[in-house]
Amino acid sequence: MKIPERLDILGYEYQVLNEVTHNDSHYGHAKHKDAKIILYSSPDYTMPEQIEAETLLHEIIHSIDTALCLDLDENTVTRLSKGLFAVIRQNNLDFRKDTPNA
Ligand SMILES: [Zn+2]
Repeated sequence: MKIPERLDILGYEYQVLNEVTHNDSHYGHAKHKDAKIILYSSPDYTMPEQIEAETLLHEIIHSIDTALCLDLDENTVTRLSKGLFAVIRQNNLDFRKDTPNA
């Protein structure tokens, strides 16, 4: 998937940035007060596309959680992102509204 540079998440315009890190345990981070989603990459390897895409979904869920004060814990966000990502990918779902010229 093409990673967008900006996302509107419930009226907040988020920048989506890529940062190089040597810490392999962090794939991404959502900074609500700065309206930024950061996807980390390593100088040592290329992150597989599906992991990067699922990480973006994970950080979007964190941003929704913050905006709506859902108070989800990390395990819940991880389970939601992995579950939603698998269903969306396995069924090739596209939620965009059909347009006459699509
Ligand atoms: Zn998380």
